[in-house]
Amino acid sequence: DSGADAPHVVLLATPGAGHLIPLAEFAKLLVDRHGFSVTIITYTVFASKAQDALLSSLAPSVASLVLPAVPFDDLPPDARIETIISVVAVRSVPTLRAELSRLQASFNVVALVGDLFATEAIAVARDLGVPPYLFFPSNLLTLSLILHLPELDASVACEYRDLPEPLRLPGCVPIPGPELLHPIQDRSNEVYKWILRHGRRYRDAEGIIGNTFEAFEPDAAKVLKQGQPPLYLVGPLTQSRPAGAEEDAECLRWLDKQPVGSVLFVSFGSGGTLTTAQLAELALGLEMSGQRFLWVVRSPSDGGNASANYFTTQSKTDPFPFLPAGFVERTREVGLLIPSWAPQVSVLGHAATGGFLSHCGWNSTLESVKAGVPIIAWPLFAEQRQNAVMLAEGAKIALRLRAAEDGLVPREEVARVVKELMEGQEGKSARQRVSELQEAALRCLEEGGAALEALDEVVNRWKSRN
Ligand code: UDP
Repeated sequence: DSGADAPHVVLLATPGAGHLIPLAEFAKLLVDRHGFSVTIITYTVFASKAQDALLSSLAPSVASLVLPAVPFDDLPPDARIETIISVVAVRSVPTLRAELSRLQASFNVVALVGDLFATEAIAVARDLGVPPYLFFPSNLLTLSLILHLPELDASVACEYRDLPEPLRLPGCVPIPGPELLHPIQDRSNEVYKWILRHGRRYRDAEGIIGNTFEAFEPDAAKVLKQGQPPLYLVGPLTQSRPAGAEEDAECLRWLDKQPVGSVLFVSFGSGGTLTTAQLAELALGLEMSGQRFLWVVRSPSDGGNASANYFTTQSKTDPFPFLPAGFVERTREVGLLIPSWAPQVSVLGHAATGGFLSHCGWNSTLESVKAGVPIIAWPLFAEQRQNAVMLAEGAKIALRLRAAEDGLVPREEVARVVKELMEGQEGKSARQRVSELQEAALRCLEEGGAALEALDEVVNRWKSRN
């Protein structure tokens, strides 16, 4: 089939590079492998240059449309990001319905697939006779937690952080209360109610498409596959390197000159920042470790002048004035600092890269596994703390850092764990484990592998509706 008769899938991406990137990869598979046509719907409120660039790189095989802005200035200034996303999604229901029904008039729409916060779309799709699916961009531990949240809400009286025992979800690594998903840590906050509401709706989906693979969390996969709704593990889908997008690849040329497996890559995702005090401990810890490093440095979260054009106004003299005095000079031989953004997939895939100090965002984690690079876990927000527990204690591909009483990770601890990862016994076994997982991941993505089989299975369900 082709043209207007080809099955058409509508993908709905709530804000966040971490949601859109894997959905875009999923869209490419639907088009390239199955001849589907696809529309990706996003929200104006959170449009960004990076998002526009990604969407236009997909055209013309993947169409995109943006839902018009809705007001949310009535929310309190401290409203959490997940609350804002959820409120915007609710307020966009009328336009979503209109767009979906308009698409139905021109295409053979066989499914609507929304990401983890797009649960409003489930009822909209059903009303219009379109089967609703969920795309879950994180791991099975987090999926289990959200699916179980309604039950936990009914059975647990205290704050989850005060649970006397770690939470044991079926098939999952036990997670101490304080390490659970950040938005459920305060049950009186609006954001908790939103996550709970999403959890209640997950079961209304026809199926859940997960961006992970069975060998990563084998027990959780077994449990979830026996439950409802059906689970399709199509991962690990990660950002493909956009051709020609790496003109600023000074760091790759620098890596070319470093010994194999000798460099620690340090990055906290698309939005992670540290305080000035914590940046200093990290810097001095890297220096004390004596290891080579490539560090994507962002202005501190508490910096007075951490504005978007910070680097353009100051970079000529000292691009990193918030780092300890003399640090840049002293580490010039072993370290490279890059402001703001690195071509992460290429860096992780470079032979010189031997470790990744990461905030444990799920996309970064999958990219590290696909490159066979072991991790030092430095979680910041969202589900990153529980990811860190899973990576260290479940998959055993990560080492963890211990914070001191004051909440800061001290330089000595940074140095100790960095040395351990790059040269020690624990590092060696994490590296061994991650290369086993890397192999399993790459096998999944080959012809006949589990990811493509899961993709074909869900696609066949969609096709059989014709
Ligand atoms: N990323 C990148 N360069 C950077 C920082 C991030 O290419 O300097 C990419 C990274 O490769 C990943 C995504 O941005 O694909 C971050 O997603 P993740 O889920 O790890 O974390 P989030 O940014 O959502 O916290």
